[in-house]
Amino acid sequence: MKKISRRTFSQRLGTGLGAAALWSSIPFACAMSGSKRDEESLGVALVGLGSYSTYQLAPALQETQFCHLEGIVTGTPSKESQWAQQYQIPKENIYNYSNFDQIAENDAIDIVYVVLPNAMHAEYSIRAARAGKHVICEKPMAVSVTECDAIIEACEKAGVELAVGYRLHSEPYTQEVKRLVREKTFGEVLYISADAAYISLGNPDQWRLNIDLSGGGALMNMGIYSIQSAIYGTGKNPISVRAQEFSTRPEYFKQTDETITAQFEFPGGTVGNIMTSHNANANRLYASCEEGWFELQPANNYGPLHGRTSQGALEFTHERQQKLQMDDFASHILSGTKNVAPGEMGKRDMIIVEAIYKSIAGGSAKIPLDLGNMGLV
Ligand code: NAD
Repeated sequence: MKKISRRTFSQRLGTGLGAAALWSSIPFACAMSGSKRDEESLGVALVGLGSYSTYQLAPALQETQFCHLEGIVTGTPSKESQWAQQYQIPKENIYNYSNFDQIAENDAIDIVYVVLPNAMHAEYSIRAARAGKHVICEKPMAVSVTECDAIIEACEKAGVELAVGYRLHSEPYTQEVKRLVREKTFGEVLYISADAAYISLGNPDQWRLNIDLSGGGALMNMGIYSIQSAIYGTGKNPISVRAQEFSTRPEYFKQTDETITAQFEFPGGTVGNIMTSHNANANRLYASCEEGWFELQPANNYGPLHGRTSQGALEFTHERQQKLQMDDFASHILSGTKNVAPGEMGKRDMIIVEAIYKSIAGGSAKIPLDLGNMGLV
């Protein structure tokens, strides 16, 4: 029996609450569609089976409610049989980088999740969109604002949804920070500090240290988390930035930045300071407000995160962040719930990354930013 895919239905009906209501009224169509997987959730294909796909995303897709692991795209033939066996992936849902575009013909795949080195995000996100698939693109969204624009345009043109792999927007401590800011529980945020860093000691030939594949160093990798924290920790986009770069191991960090600090000005006078490094360990968000403070430490690892405020400890149940993230996106597609990490947010962060590099190149020059409410979700 031909499968009736939810993607086909939701595209035909449009996403939105109307579509959600119609969905709940067509259980019969779903019941006829074959396997349990088909009936209840969207099929995800992971592109790039490196460490994040292997140890985080694939296990998370065993726990998700609204999507499941349906396909893989890999350049390593030995991984094809290994993953097929471990996750019961049918042969027809296994692709390599050459035949990837044929995924357009595969109705079992609804979402393509791009988990490749940063400089490959744009190409594969665009190819996925052109194949008619919804796209999750890992962070950083791309290696330039121009590439972010190209991804957004391709998704708009194809009529598919786009999210960045910003898992923390689905994570309860982070959501609580956003609530405290939105509801001004402690008044206005006066000062925000956000650090995201780890010590890199591994293979000097890894892609993260290769500028052509990474697009940048600590800033592109962990600095994205500092930028994100500074923004959701204030609820505002910065209006200017100044930045500094420090290098102590140039023999290891030959092409990419080692440590960067940057200072933001926000509307209303809020001040921010961020640090990112591949030569220190740090993982913290701290906000000083008119009537108290709040802190997450750790603030951006896979969790459980920990949080405190001037009124006491925060306590939330831990669930795998990637499970929550992918279910949020699938639910957005199926039921029209909010896209908590849209492409515009990834593009905004890349505008800030480019401004930080520009400031450093200009001797810590002050770079104005005109972001408005871009990417504030
Ligand atoms: P990784 O090095 O473990 O995996 C990269 C994958 O890309 C490998 O399967 C490799 O074979 C494949 N690949 C294809 N062409 C390649 C090439 N030319 N050079 C190198 N590898 C190539 O990396 P990872 O840690 O899985 O990171 C992948 C992406 O996921 C990155 O963009 C990273 O920023 C992102 N990531 C996000 C999170 C998060 O928490 N959201 C965590 C880790 C990684």
